[in-house]
Amino acid sequence: MSQTLFERICARELPSAIVYEDDKVVAFKDVNPKAPTHILIVPRHPIPRVAEAQPEDQALLGHLLLKAAEVASKAGLSGGYRLVINNGRDGGESVPHLHVHILGGRPLGWPPG
Ligand code: 5GP
Repeated sequence: MSQTLFERICARELPSAIVYEDDKVVAFKDVNPKAPTHILIVPRHPIPRVAEAQPEDQALLGHLLLKAAEVASKAGLSGGYRLVINNGRDGGESVPHLHVHILGGRPLGWPPG
């Protein structure tokens, strides 16, 4: 199967502004930011979307969220931030490789569009 866009970013085959990486996850700036700070954090292992995560992914999903909070803190988002996971067409998913959006740097409206 061909690699996802984000697998290629994780492997540094495509350029991106990586702000954090370890053996399980990579965080990089979104190329089309929707807020002053917009970082994506993705598992290296390409789970397509959260609806397809499996019980054996539990530790990886926990690590992803813990690292998202760490990345947000290191990005200076002390006033707060939002974590978003878009799932499927109606959820606004456009890249079929699970990713958490870390959005901040301005007050974020609710409910989302
Ligand atoms: P989704 O719509 O799937 O929840 O989010 C996909 C995100 O990936 C979008 O915010 C989009 O701007 C971002 N994106 C798409 N292609 C690239 C790319 O090549 N590099 C980076 N850094 N972000 C990308």
